[in-house]
Amino acid sequence: MSTIEHTRTDSDLPARALRAIPGGVNSGQRRVSGLEQTIVTATDGATFTDGEGRTYVDFHSAFGPPLLGHNDPDVDRAVAETSKRLDLMGVAVTPVEVELAEEVIDAIPSVEQVILTSTGSEATFHALRLARAVTGRRHVIKFQGCYHGWHDAVSTNIISAADKLGQKDPVSDGILPEVLDATIVCQFNDLASVEAALEQHDVAAIIVEPIPHNIGAVLPRPGFHAGLRELATRHGALLVFDEVITGFRHAVGGWQTIEQITPDLTTLGKAMANGYPVAALGGRADLLGELSSNPGGRVFFAGTYNGHPAMAAAALATIRKLRSEPVHEHVFALGKRIRSELTALYARLGVPVVVSGYGSVFVTYFQDGPVDHYGDLLRNDAELFVGYRQELLREGVFELPLNLKRSCVSYAHTDAHVDRLLTATEAAVTRALAR
Ligand code: PMP
Repeated sequence: MSTIEHTRTDSDLPARALRAIPGGVNSGQRRVSGLEQTIVTATDGATFTDGEGRTYVDFHSAFGPPLLGHNDPDVDRAVAETSKRLDLMGVAVTPVEVELAEEVIDAIPSVEQVILTSTGSEATFHALRLARAVTGRRHVIKFQGCYHGWHDAVSTNIISAADKLGQKDPVSDGILPEVLDATIVCQFNDLASVEAALEQHDVAAIIVEPIPHNIGAVLPRPGFHAGLRELATRHGALLVFDEVITGFRHAVGGWQTIEQITPDLTTLGKAMANGYPVAALGGRADLLGELSSNPGGRVFFAGTYNGHPAMAAAALATIRKLRSEPVHEHVFALGKRIRSELTALYARLGVPVVVSGYGSVFVTYFQDGPVDHYGDLLRNDAELFVGYRQELLREGVFELPLNLKRSCVSYAHTDAHVDRLLTATEAAVTRALAR
């Protein structure tokens, strides 16, 4: 039996967290104003419970992984059963890693080989190192508003202030300027900005979130990704689709199967293992073969926890469930209903909004359209965006109260949860407007 009583309400816990952990939380994005006293004690399907015993309908979904819902019994069973007989060995390979790699290759047409990491950041890091090594080139292109993890080359120009648009905007101190000199920031949905960069610099890779979900849901214009594919090929750069969010969530084969684009490299994570730490780098076999896991591979690749058998089992169980049950049908229907009823709600309230999203993902920007790139989102009323989400908490509905964050539904959400979201949103927005 566990000696830790996770569900105990302990009013001292936030203070203890602050003493023991910098800021009291384990990731910068978890330090959210108004939630300093919140302790999450339990998760279950579409809900979570806090230290006061209050239960919320969860539309944040941990930034996206639990597409099947929290504590999915099939995934959890696979983890428990594998853990009983197979622990991390750190040498050779286990059957479940092979089965998972084959499953991913089968699911995503552009993926000829795949290698596992624990986090999406590692996957994008290795994608860019690999791209630089095989092309012998220096620069990478990313897009303003896209997030690809915490490593230096991509830690710039995510949610920039208006006066930083068009300039280098590192998210952190401690990043060498010369690292960011090799990162070129282009504008999403603007092929001309990409073409100009490719003409001026020796570009190893273009890395892109197919839908920039780290700023909500900015949809690609028709032809944008096909244009990136064409430009990358013409200029000898690799196209990296960062499908850490879109992979498995929008289609088992990722966004690339929806638009029929073939990237050279693909990064995966989040919904791949329903919340367990599994991510992956997949793509052309001639490129993956340059990783040092392959004899003669000249690109160093390692990770103590890569392919952890219980985590690989979680991913395998998740992907098999996504393929065998009507998960996408369910979450797409709920997502569509949410977007259309939110649009009607705000029209009735007379509040100008752009309700965006795709499939299971939704977000309301408080502004007029169009929304084609990050710069357009500077018109969003950030105070109202955060304010109504703070009010939602009082209704027992959770959307992360941080500017531009997306929300989503899982297989565990029902129409009744959506009913609650819609009723709560009306009350919350009305109160936020009156503040
Ligand atoms: N790429 C994208 C598109 C992401 O959204 C994220 C995480 N939000 C990452 C990479 C990094 O993944 P991780 O947090 O697992 O390192």
